[in-house]
Amino acid sequence: MTLEQRYAAIEKDVRASCEACGRDSREVTIVGVSKTVDLDAVEEAIAAGVHDFGENRPEELARKYEAFPGERWHFIGNIQSRKLSSVVGRACLIHSLYTLSHAEKIDRLACGLGIVQDVLIEVNDGEENKQGVQPDELFELLMECNRLSNVRVCGLMTMAARGSLAEARATFSDLRILRDTMRDKLARNGVDDMPLHELSMGMSDDYLEAIPQGATMVRVGRAIFSDDYAR
Ligand SMILES: *Cc1c(COP(=O)(O)O)cnc(C)c1O
Repeated sequence: MTLEQRYAAIEKDVRASCEACGRDSREVTIVGVSKTVDLDAVEEAIAAGVHDFGENRPEELARKYEAFPGERWHFIGNIQSRKLSSVVGRACLIHSLYTLSHAEKIDRLACGLGIVQDVLIEVNDGEENKQGVQPDELFELLMECNRLSNVRVCGLMTMAARGSLAEARATFSDLRILRDTMRDKLARNGVDDMPLHELSMGMSDDYLEAIPQGATMVRVGRAIFSDDYAR
């Protein structure tokens, strides 16, 4: 299959999955994770209809953003403080924020650019991943981010452990429940301008598990960009 055919098949699957669970497929953005490919493949993906791209290295995000500034570039990688200046202002959304010190740095950089930086908070799924805030520390982080006027928290992100689709489904369901709990708790604490509508969850192997659980963004790399990815 060509990239165009692979992407068309994923779009079709996303539509079918949305239909099966009564969701509007326009609520689900497919983020093409281009971290392993070069500009020519990005160009091919744009021609195939991909307009949201995910990168996990700041320099690479900056390079691809400069090559294709009209597309939406998502930062999905581990945050390093001294490299945030490559990301803030270029990334339409940072999916992987989970510490207050990084939130404060993003706030300062965004303030310097005169923008508000959209972010998601990455939540640890409690399995093998090291990144992400623990669920019981999320509320405090949200309240602290709420004080930062140049950071807007739009929702939550998680990564499921690889291997078991049943476990992935449970991880995704947990994230949605956590989001709903946070919404209620924020409202009770007088925070009514942090709707947390985005749930970034699901990758090549498990995005079809994430959609019925409420994913609004799926981050798909190999299934779009790899010639030998077995569907
Ligand atoms: C690489 C990566 C993806 C995409 O993974 P695939 O299995 O290639 O779809 C999604 N999210 C994050 C955070 C990644 O690092």
